[in-house]
Amino acid sequence: MSEPLSKAYEPQEVEKKWYSIWLEAELFVANSSDQKPPYTIVMPPPNITGSLHMGHALYTLQDILIRWRRMQGYNALWLPGTDHAGISTQVMVERDLKKQGLSRHQVGREKFTEKVWEWKAKHGSRIEEQLKVLGFSCDWSRNNFTMSEKLNRAVREVFVRLYEEGLIYRDERLINWCPSCQTVLSDLEVDHEEGVKGSLWHLRYPVHGQPGRYLVVATTRPETMLGDTAVAVHSNDKRYQDLHGANLDLPLTGRTISVIVDDILVDPEFGSGAVKVTPGHDFNDFQVGKRHQLPMLSVLDTQARIQLPDSPFDGLDRFEARKAIVETLQQQGLLSHIEDHTLSLARCDRCATIVEPTLSPQWYVKMAPLAEPALQAVRNKETVIIPEHWTKTYEHWMTNIQDWCVSRQLWWGHQIPAWYCAYCNRDTLHKNAQGEITISRQATPVVSREAPKQCSVCGHDEWIQDPDVLDTWFSSGLWPFSTLGWPDDTPDLHTFYPNSVMETGSDILFFWVARMMMMGIHFMKAPPFSKVYLHAMVRDEHGQKMSKTKGNVIDPLDMVDGVPQNQLERLPKSQRALFPQGTPAFGADALRFTLAAASVAGRDIKLNLEQLQGYRAFCNKIWNASRFALMNLEDYKPDRKVQSDELAIFDRWILSRLSNAITTVYAQLENFAFAEASLSVYHFFWNEFCDWYLELSKSQLRGDAVLPAQRHATQMVLARVLDQSLRLIHPFMPFITEEIWQKLPRVNNDEKFLMTAAVAKNDDWVKEDRVAEIQVSLLIDALTALRNIRGEAQLAPSKVLPAELHAEQEILTVLEFFKPQIERLAQIHPLSLRVTGSIKPPQAAVSVVNKIEGVISLVGLIDIAKESERIEKEIMKITTEQKKIYAKLDNTDFLARAPAEVIETQRQRANEFSAQLDKLQAHLLSLKEKELLRNP
Ligand SMILES: [Zn+2]
Ligand SMILES: [Zn+2]
Repeated sequence: MSEPLSKAYEPQEVEKKWYSIWLEAELFVANSSDQKPPYTIVMPPPNITGSLHMGHALYTLQDILIRWRRMQGYNALWLPGTDHAGISTQVMVERDLKKQGLSRHQVGREKFTEKVWEWKAKHGSRIEEQLKVLGFSCDWSRNNFTMSEKLNRAVREVFVRLYEEGLIYRDERLINWCPSCQTVLSDLEVDHEEGVKGSLWHLRYPVHGQPGRYLVVATTRPETMLGDTAVAVHSNDKRYQDLHGANLDLPLTGRTISVIVDDILVDPEFGSGAVKVTPGHDFNDFQVGKRHQLPMLSVLDTQARIQLPDSPFDGLDRFEARKAIVETLQQQGLLSHIEDHTLSLARCDRCATIVEPTLSPQWYVKMAPLAEPALQAVRNKETVIIPEHWTKTYEHWMTNIQDWCVSRQLWWGHQIPAWYCAYCNRDTLHKNAQGEITISRQATPVVSREAPKQCSVCGHDEWIQDPDVLDTWFSSGLWPFSTLGWPDDTPDLHTFYPNSVMETGSDILFFWVARMMMMGIHFMKAPPFSKVYLHAMVRDEHGQKMSKTKGNVIDPLDMVDGVPQNQLERLPKSQRALFPQGTPAFGADALRFTLAAASVAGRDIKLNLEQLQGYRAFCNKIWNASRFALMNLEDYKPDRKVQSDELAIFDRWILSRLSNAITTVYAQLENFAFAEASLSVYHFFWNEFCDWYLELSKSQLRGDAVLPAQRHATQMVLARVLDQSLRLIHPFMPFITEEIWQKLPRVNNDEKFLMTAAVAKNDDWVKEDRVAEIQVSLLIDALTALRNIRGEAQLAPSKVLPAELHAEQEILTVLEFFKPQIERLAQIHPLSLRVTGSIKPPQAAVSVVNKIEGVISLVGLIDIAKESERIEKEIMKITTEQKKIYAKLDNTDFLARAPAEVIETQRQRANEFSAQLDKLQAHLLSLKEKELLRNP
């Protein structure tokens, strides 16, 4: 045994120390040639631009699984890595350049990419260091990065193979374009702002050849009229039936466009019943354009300026153009009227610029053939999604899947492995204003793993690589196998694919999980994992999303290290009052346990600092109980044999409860029931081990009358239960358990670290013992009943009182055996045991726990009149509080405005008050009866 445990538990002293020891001893490293069964989780790669938030802290669930399986004897690999996060990283570096007065175009692509790598070298590992603080046991020797040479090769291979299989193609379609970020955006990257106040402009388009006749169309974006290629009407609309196929003189352009009939687009009841069609700048109109083979005009350039060389509006920004166009139309008498209109605006989620639907040639992955087997794998349960209800969402997505636009107009990312012969494509390659190459739809690419040498058509050897890069999800979609060395047939790939579990947020089921499923099945011929566990969002105590503007963010690192008093503003507003002196360092263990305990499948994870405080107290409990145990084990000789008949009944009881806890907790982990498993651990250790066993075993450890063999037996049980408990708790709280475990007296020193020791197990000692369970539970019921009376009547705990226990005869036989313990532990003397139904003493206070009635006579102990008065006052107080809540719940205004969570909390409080009132009323009634007894 080394130094004893220090008096108080200080997580800072323990956590950093153990992480470096484990790392140094290479305990996180998995071995692909190990013969043990593999257990693999690949970590969802955090963005290199990221800083640790609660979502990352929730990787705790993965660490719990990995640590548990490792202790179970699996060859456990938790594979970490980071994502290059294309657009976020590019924006960061551009911001740095801007400070020096430079743009990326001034710097040039090659230099810019170098700058990003420099940025990565400087800041990119911050998130990894932060993950280590939480004790995550991932194999850093296999750390990956989506832009590494290894993964770059995998990405290229996948792109080329899909292209060769006809599953990747280039096409010109309408896409979401951010004129500020200068790239196409996926649906995920577009925010929809609802209820924006805007205008609806009603424009008059002259009917060609019928002077004085107009068709009125309405639009929220008048500038797009420059790109109109038709006006659509409904076939049944009598007003326009003579105009089907007629031509209109499109104002300001000198072009004529025709009137078409489209019953899908047009609602004759809405507006004028005539709809302008701009296929080049509107998603609905694009579909109309395709249905009617309309010309598709792009009238805006990539920066959303009008791009029509012969037009007076050429070069104007889209919003300046809007003003100018409306003014000109008004002057020409072509503006009918303007009305107020509420609309929804699509904005770039990064820079809030209004997104412009734009025609642009992009690369697409054909999804339907990839989705089909991924759908089947879930349907036939090769891959199981937990919670189960997400299966429906998955099926819905996979059956309605659209082709995936994978190209992005960024510089930071995997550049698309497509090349264009400069000579053959001399008419389709252009340079834009910034000197960037743009490639029109008609250009012919050569897609290959390496840059081509000589053009097979013209013999020239000047090649231009497609400037676009791939969507970040394209590389992360390969994560379960690219990180293991694919396309090479590596030992890692052999051993660790398929992975065992994918644990991630339900918000990226489609963007990430579904794509890993499709890519994994396509390239590895097997689903990437057999289980997908989806956790919900981490929210504040009212169920609100955490956000800086709401001021309700809980920063995980603050929770680990503590927040000093002068930095209280870092705490959520609602919780500052709880910690006026600042928070203590709760430590990583407490944070991990809090997150696990809050992880109820399918429900949002609501966090507040009181929970953390509670589980920090659990750490103290573990620490103090262990100190107590270790003090009582100082003279313990682990190699001395114990006979089973030397065990006290409490010893047999705690061994049986431990056996039950092990079975329960491991079954819960098997089912991903993290909250239930944590609470089982907590209940066993705190309530059964600390509250009861340590108390009950004191007499065995310290009593004068105890034989050395009995004392030694109890020491053996104490050491064993503590050892096994630490093994049970370790996956949840790795640091504190390792620190304590190292100090335990052990026979077998093969196990050097708790982290790599075996899981808690049933054995010759740790096993179910029904007799001990039944008997000790009767003892516990009796003690609880007597303590309840003391508590309710507010009797001093130290005052020795006479008491009775009433129960059936066979229970009394057991209680008879425990009489000395009951008297000692409940401060009772004398204790009388009576058969149920016996007459009770005068002014008896009674508490019933299961089949036992505790009875204490209150004669001379309390002033009944005063006690009744106290209770009446309390009843009044609670009733007033409850009325206030009922008033709120009757207030329709409150019900309409308050978040559902708040309403629910109020309802719960009202119910709790009712329960309290019931108890107090009953107590009052019994006191009054006693008073009657006294003064009949
Ligand atoms: Zn943007
Ligand atoms: Zn050529």
